[in-house]
Amino acid sequence: MSEENTIFQDALGRLDEAQKYATIDEETLQRMQYPIQILQVSIPVRMDDGSLRIFKGYRVRHDDTRGPTKGGIRFHPQVDLEEVKALSLWMTCKCAVMDIPYGGAKGGVIVNPKELSPLELERLSRGFIEKMADFIGPDRDIPAPDVYTNERIMGWMMNEYSNIVRRHSPGVITGKPIALGGSQGRATATGRGAYHCIKQLEKKRGWKPANTTVAIQGFGNAGQGVAELLHHDGYRIVAVSDSQGAIYREEGFDVPSIMHAKNESRELKAVYCEGSVCESVDAQKLSNEELLELDVDILIPAAMENAITKDNAKNIKANVIVEVANGPITVEADAILGKRKDVLVVPDILANAGGVTVSYFEWVQNRCGDYWEEEHVFHRLEQTMCKQFEKVYDMMKEHEVPMRTAAYTLALNRIGAAVASTGTVRYFSGQE
Ligand code: NAD
Repeated sequence: MSEENTIFQDALGRLDEAQKYATIDEETLQRMQYPIQILQVSIPVRMDDGSLRIFKGYRVRHDDTRGPTKGGIRFHPQVDLEEVKALSLWMTCKCAVMDIPYGGAKGGVIVNPKELSPLELERLSRGFIEKMADFIGPDRDIPAPDVYTNERIMGWMMNEYSNIVRRHSPGVITGKPIALGGSQGRATATGRGAYHCIKQLEKKRGWKPANTTVAIQGFGNAGQGVAELLHHDGYRIVAVSDSQGAIYREEGFDVPSIMHAKNESRELKAVYCEGSVCESVDAQKLSNEELLELDVDILIPAAMENAITKDNAKNIKANVIVEVANGPITVEADAILGKRKDVLVVPDILANAGGVTVSYFEWVQNRCGDYWEEEHVFHRLEQTMCKQFEKVYDMMKEHEVPMRTAAYTLALNRIGAAVASTGTVRYFSGQE
């Protein structure tokens, strides 16, 4: 057996630190250690060539004290149960930090979806729901998209669930296409949530956007969303990367043009648009590692887990890191960065919570059958993000702890209040 902690144990370790500052009964922490339900399924899929393949999938419901469980479904070759458990725990904490009435869950299927045809992908998505139909539900457990799953897949899944239960059930899953009950504003919600965190910091630090430089690792859905909004406000987005490499330009990029080029060609090209004329501009090519170590004001890891490790943490020069990806900083790297008073990390459970917040709005709309304008979604998202950002920030100042510890402390206080109201040993032994 390996001596190394599993990713789930690492995730629990973050709670141990926060527990020192939280006003909770220790039963809360005890509960966090044990996901309430774990389902493992085997999904038989008939492939296009007539052969049969069996895919393994998981769904973990971590905690439902504050409400039905909520969390994405990942299709990835490296999915494993410990990772799904860790992601479900993060969801419990994320929903609590945002004060959304949900617990946490996560799911995953071990598959490389890029190797499947569209029909095979549809059969797999429907097959997963068939195996999980008794485990999920609009009042019980509500999935959403995650890595390599998208709104079309959510649409198939909602449709399959509705067929099984024999009634239209849009509230069983979020991140659906708008035509199938999705919410306005969901597609860009994660980037927008991170943007509001940065705007709150802008007020505190007196940043002038034109003088503030930003590097973004991962130019996908979430990375592009935050880049576009910051660029619009005049921030200098000097570097962006994808899995193929990074580009750098000291003056900053015209973000809509790079987005256009990337989304048309799937390649990261540096183009500069003025009016309708797009010209290629000189951009320095960097490696993905070099981007992370740039001397910029704000670094936004928006790709995958474990981008900043004990090996490169000491080389990070940005003063502010906004974790748009889930878990981009390892526990060891966090300890190194935590000792540096000049670095502020806005933690993932706050910085990328715009996605789950608008997922919650989608579920509310599905349940009451009343659909909101995009402006209303944006307004409520801004209100929620700014309010919870300030609460975490105040907690950080009050206890003089890293912002991550503050976010977990706030989450634990809220989960702890729910646990306490069901009665703990203090109540049952007559001490309160
Ligand atoms: P995505 O697939 O749209 O984009 C990911 C991007 O990262 C791609 O451009 C890919 O090329 C790039 N990438 C992968 N490896 C890289 C590397 N080593 N260096 C640089 N770039 C690399 O995914 P997404 O939806 O934008 O999600 C990104 C992260 O944000 C994930 O950690 C996800 O869990 C997290 N997140 C996303 C949402 C959401 O609503 N999209 C919500 C919460 C958290």
